[in-house]
Amino acid sequence: PQLANQIAAGEVVERPASVVKELVENSLDAGATRIELDIERGGHKRIRLKDDGCGIAKDELELALSRHATSKISSLSDLEQILSLGFRGEALASISSVSRLTLTSRPENQQQAWQAYCEGSQMAVRVQPAAHPKGTTIDVADLFYNTPARRKFLRTEKTEFQHIEETVKRIALSHPSAAFVLRHNGKTVKRYPGGESGNHEPRIASVLGKKFIQNAIYLDSEYDGLQITAWLGNQAMIRSSTDHQFSFVNGRGMRDKLILHAIRQAYESVWGVVEQPAFVVYLKVDPRDVDVNVHPAKNEVRFQRSRLVHDFICKAVCEALDSEPQ
Ligand code: ADP
Ligand code: MG
Repeated sequence: PQLANQIAAGEVVERPASVVKELVENSLDAGATRIELDIERGGHKRIRLKDDGCGIAKDELELALSRHATSKISSLSDLEQILSLGFRGEALASISSVSRLTLTSRPENQQQAWQAYCEGSQMAVRVQPAAHPKGTTIDVADLFYNTPARRKFLRTEKTEFQHIEETVKRIALSHPSAAFVLRHNGKTVKRYPGGESGNHEPRIASVLGKKFIQNAIYLDSEYDGLQITAWLGNQAMIRSSTDHQFSFVNGRGMRDKLILHAIRQAYESVWGVVEQPAFVVYLKVDPRDVDVNVHPAKNEVRFQRSRLVHDFICKAVCEALDSEPQ
């Protein structure tokens, strides 16, 4: 089972930031309103997440860690078939196969918290009593300790932490009601207080700065089942890097080429801007019109009506920029 999980991990777990993304998404799925992340040495050494979500019952801890662990993979050619099933239920199993993972959890109705960890090449799950408030803590230590080839691909602690920060920013922008704390080597680096769900402005202000939200051009437009809500940076906010570009499709952070192209084309045609505009764009599409599971680790989507989506975004952004005095 460990080998099968490690092969899957190659797809899901590219670097510490991918672990952070999977863990935080699990917490949000569990209804957490407060998520604390403690990172040590860029995530090389440790990634620890604590949430106040629904928790995992004692007798489900093993399942959470070993789902799909009964190896379906007997040869590499089977792998493709497994991939096509998606990675549902594989994140924790994958992460635990390439790290020392400890899961501690207590659902509200359970008197006692329990802690689980995997041991040995057979990934036997050990469970023991522990102390923990309602919610879950997942501790991922020594990422890739047993896969030296992957470990070699890790960049410096600073770079890996920057990727983690990016990941947290993006998820924070998509879930403005949850509170986030991000610490690195014991020092608080980011703190996003929880807010009203649906009200994105305070969260955007804390991620991109007050100045951004004060000067951004607001856009809200709808057409044929497509909806865009956006805060578009003005000309004073043109940057040389893409670090202030955030786009979301149905609440999931995406760096999708089609979306980015549509927005940049609008900036270029209205203002002649060829450098990087700043923006936060939320797109809502009928779920039947979009496939978000093209690749679990890549932030790309596949639209049924891609031309229509592109032109809709481009036109809406053009109109918003046009209405702004130069
Ligand atoms: P998936 O999210 O696709 O179901 P994962 O491997 O990421 O698969 O997680 C396995 C299961 O563990 C989840 O389905 C969920 O039941 C449970 N789980 C993981 N993280 C948490 C959490 N923070 N709070 C509550 N349950 C969790
Ligand atoms: Mg998951």
